Amino acid sequence: MAFSLPIVNSKTATFECIFGRGCEGHCCKNGRPSVTPQEKKVIDSKLEEVLPHLRPVAQKLIEKDGYLSKRTKLGAPMLRVIEEYCVFFNKGCVLHKIGAQDGAAYQYKPIQCALFPLTKDEDTNEWYIRQWGYGGEQWDLFCLNPKESKKKAVVTLAEEIALAEECEKSSR
Ligand code: SF4
Repeated sequence: MAFSLPIVNSKTATFECIFGRGCEGHCCKNGRPSVTPQEKKVIDSKLEEVLPHLRPVAQKLIEKDGYLSKRTKLGAPMLRVIEEYCVFFNKGCVLHKIGAQDGAAYQYKPIQCALFPLTKDEDTNEWYIRQWGYGGEQWDLFCLNPKESKKKAVVTLAEEIALAEECEKSSR
């Protein structure tokens, strides 16, 4: 559990992802991460390979209108949603699955998804773990309820913390 990233609620946050063990990917339901120009380049480079694995309705939408909507978050366009789920969702994140097949699960998906529920407060620039009852969390996603797990988030999110540390180093 050795990490150097300062996470303001590291002592109290609990979290366990149970995707595939009772959760079918609720965090991608109406999931609308924003995509930076660099992330768009990466997704574009894999799009032909990704498309056949998407839900037919998402394939059609992307072929017609693209995968980015006109809505923006943090100054960048957000992924589209169709039939309640992110266009890249099909029994899990297809960008994640193809990334894993290619050797690194997080390499093609937006960083906001890769780090979830670890995030950075845009006002204070502080890292924190999203939890009900912390920082005015609005999302009713059950896994953000600290009562759902007794596991310390800094243990279960070791990969995400390591990724955030890499992001911090590369942005210096
Ligand atoms: S890009 Fe992948 S992880 Fe992110 S919301 Fe879409 S399906 Fe979920």
